Amino acid sequence: MKILFASAEIYPYAKTGGLADVAQALPAVLNETTDLISVMPMYDFIDKKQHDINPLLETLVIEIGEEPHDISLYEGYNRGVRTLFVYNDILCTCTAPYGDENGDYPRNDLRFALFSKALIRLAELYSIELLHLNDWHTALAALWARESKPDLKVVFTIHNLAYQGLFPEQTCRVLDIDPTCFTPDGIEFWGQLNCMKAGIAYSDRVTTVSPTYAREILDPEFGCGLEGFLQVHAHKLSGILNGIDTVLFDPQTDPSLKQNYSAEDLSLNRSNKVLMCQQSGFKDPERPFFIFIGRFTEQKGLDIIIEALPKILQMPLNLTILGEGDKRFSLALEFESQHRDNLSVTLGYDESLSHRLYSAADFLLMPSRFEPCGLNQMISLRYGTLPIIHDVGGLHDSIKHYTDQDASVCGNGIVIDTLDKTSLAEAIREAMRLYEQKDRYRELCIANMQCDVSFEKSATAYLNLYKEIL
Ligand code: ADP
Repeated sequence: MKILFASAEIYPYAKTGGLADVAQALPAVLNETTDLISVMPMYDFIDKKQHDINPLLETLVIEIGEEPHDISLYEGYNRGVRTLFVYNDILCTCTAPYGDENGDYPRNDLRFALFSKALIRLAELYSIELLHLNDWHTALAALWARESKPDLKVVFTIHNLAYQGLFPEQTCRVLDIDPTCFTPDGIEFWGQLNCMKAGIAYSDRVTTVSPTYAREILDPEFGCGLEGFLQVHAHKLSGILNGIDTVLFDPQTDPSLKQNYSAEDLSLNRSNKVLMCQQSGFKDPERPFFIFIGRFTEQKGLDIIIEALPKILQMPLNLTILGEGDKRFSLALEFESQHRDNLSVTLGYDESLSHRLYSAADFLLMPSRFEPCGLNQMISLRYGTLPIIHDVGGLHDSIKHYTDQDASVCGNGIVIDTLDKTSLAEAIREAMRLYEQKDRYRELCIANMQCDVSFEKSATAYLNLYKEIL
């Protein structure tokens, strides 16, 4: 089975969120039983030397309409997976994959069309049988594959339906997209080009990253306007729960931690908590320690956390927030942290700090309004930190309420059924009470650390899917 696995971000080269984690971890497992090549753009900000990325092919020409575009290829190895990097000036001149402080890059349509077109070229070059596309950045390749390589099988995975790649109609002309596709049952969406729709319409199979999200997106509440379209394609849609890279996220070996530990010697982790509390300026490290890590968006429920902060911070707890995103939220959090001695806010993206927080904390806050899968809750299980979640999407599939007997879900946490600032504060109060029951709390953390959150099960499900369509 010759597979090309395409993503706009792959850890450790470029990461803005869970997509990069998945695009590293899933191919690493699939590579054990298939002949797989990963591919991503050779963004300028990636350090070739540090990652041992070397030139492979000088000039390939791809065409968008009549216009020829030069691309070159680089090669590296990531967890044993051969990884190709596509370089083109327009695609790769950037400081982050999708945008900067001024917003999305204006030429994202052309940038990711170039990447998608390059995938077709690579499929020819490497005799690929199956193209696995991820999110809208790669989705136009499904349309072009159908046009020019009908034998090439295509799987399209939706990691987050909220980001669809919408562009004005005239982009279709610039990209020379067959105008007969610009219809409501093709790629047209309220007069615009919708790249996500290309992935859904023209792939052999569509997957999303949890079974519950696969059902939710058929409803208007979670379908982001595509629920009707997805219903039409529901026969080829399924949900496969993500896992995490259990080598990268391993408290026994994690080089970011001052003190490594395991479920057998969880008490060692106390020194990580004490250190983190010192570094955050918290006076009392005995207090329960809560964290939030993630993008500052309404999706992640950050506005609800901010609304509930006055109530939350009255409790005898410490709270650290790490993330970046919507300026409204950053400003509100920074203001609040200047006036509180039990709130610490770090703005930005810091992989190592996130690992130290996962280990040091007692509870993870994850009150997402919707969550396709979510990785933070799985990482926190692995590090012995109890997640507090809203009962949606992949959170529903990976975490049950700690008093719940549901044997089909391994992870224990505190589950919020209906999310608002009152229920969030109540869930935190419940967490505080649970923390008081030291033995019970500890038992739950140990059980969580023993859950299988690896990619093995999911990789088998993807493999079966590949076999079915080939
Ligand atoms: P998303 O919707 O952003 O993809 P996921 O839960 O799927 O959310 O994955 C988020 C990943 O990004 C996790 O590995 C998480 O630890 C990491 N992450 C998010 N924000 C930050 C940050 N500010 N610093 C470090 N890591 C972060």
